[in-house]
Amino acid sequence: MNFELSEEHRMWQRALRDFCEGEVKPYAAEVDETGKLHWDAIRKMVDIGLLGLNVPEAYGGIDMDALGIAIAMEELGRACGSTALSIAAHNGLGCAPIARWGTPEQKAAYLPRLTSGDFLGALALTEPSAGSDLAGGVQTSAVLEGDSWIIDGSKAWITNAGLAPVITVLLRTDKEAGTSGFSMMLVETSADGLTIHPPEKKMGLKGSPTQMLSFDEARVPQNAILGEQGRGFQQTMQILDSGRIGIGALSVGLAQAAFEEAVRYARQRRAFGKAIAEHQAIQWMIADAALEIDAARLLVYRAAWLKDQGKPFVKQAAMAKLMATEVAERVARNAIQIHGSYGYSREFPVERIYRDQRLMTIGEGTSEIQRLVIARRVLQEFD
Ligand SMILES: Cc1cc2nc3c(=O)[nH]c(=O)nc-3n(C[C@H](O)[C@H](O)[C@H](O)COP(=O)(O)OP(=O)(O)OC[C@H]3O[C@@H](n4cnc5c(N)ncnc54)[C@H](O)[C@@H]3O)c2cc1C
Repeated sequence: MNFELSEEHRMWQRALRDFCEGEVKPYAAEVDETGKLHWDAIRKMVDIGLLGLNVPEAYGGIDMDALGIAIAMEELGRACGSTALSIAAHNGLGCAPIARWGTPEQKAAYLPRLTSGDFLGALALTEPSAGSDLAGGVQTSAVLEGDSWIIDGSKAWITNAGLAPVITVLLRTDKEAGTSGFSMMLVETSADGLTIHPPEKKMGLKGSPTQMLSFDEARVPQNAILGEQGRGFQQTMQILDSGRIGIGALSVGLAQAAFEEAVRYARQRRAFGKAIAEHQAIQWMIADAALEIDAARLLVYRAAWLKDQGKPFVKQAAMAKLMATEVAERVARNAIQIHGSYGYSREFPVERIYRDQRLMTIGEGTSEIQRLVIARRVLQEFD
């Protein structure tokens, strides 16, 4: 057992820390206030590979391992929640399915554009009446007519939809076949019959656009299927299993940022004749945060390591996501408590971090769903 990052991973972490400190963190408040990503930073991400983390080099990516991706998400989360979520969705949801299941023609058509710094990628699973229960609730469907698929339905809460040249959409190609009737389809955002609605007005992550899609007899070519027809549900589960490591890592970054702000503030602010950091109640919050962030990070790194070793990681990824997202909430909550009134002010970053982290126990599988995944695996292990 080795708890040290390799020299390569340490260098990658240092490079990302420098990049995020210089190009991402200084704009986090502005991104939140304006509701717009800072595109200068996103374009600069091309050079360090942040836009092609799981894309092969031939298509403009750097084909990073899962641990390296977790490190990247943690650093981005520490710098800016909105940017981190959009970049996590771009890599894990937008690029990964195409890199994994795309034909050479599909990869050549989309991956170089997705890694160019002009666009971000997106994946549309959720619908207005189907989130946790995709298998039971997804209604969007495609019917083959001549050499085109005709798509009808709607998708909800799609990150980066308005920034993407193409969106991978989960839909039913056979309504009678249960989970074997789902397919993934590549839908260009210029397709006739596709409407991308304005961004939702959200509590946090305001710079990361989340949009609804409507398909009204949208037409795409027959070869727009991504991977094997009828395998869409299994593909979705595989993408979500990996995505959970990313959201866990992002949450560790958000928790780390809130923690650093809280410790800095506690050392400066004085009450009853001493720095509040010298009061035991504040020290307990600091100690709990340090402990929980450490535990969450270890779980995230373990899940990533298992994936990199080609070992089963589904239970461990669910554990990592569950732990890290709930830790982020507790740490951000206490960071505000430590700041007193100032923590409730938009002038201090902990207010934004608190709003941003709140999504993490919901997106890419709620905490309740993570518990179901873990419990099912545990019960199977006892069979
Ligand atoms: C900012 C943001 C970005 C997003 N980005 C994307 C994206 O890019 N692509 C995409 O496809 N989706 C995206 N989503 C959607 C997100 O993944 C879903 O919201 C999430 O999966 C939960 O689904 P739901 O909202 O329909 O909740 P529901 O499934 O309706 O759940 C509601 C509540 O019931 C609970 N629940 C449901 N089933 C069970 C059960 N069996 N046992 C116990 N409790 C249960 C849930 O845990 C939750 O507490 C995004 C959402 C947000 C807010």
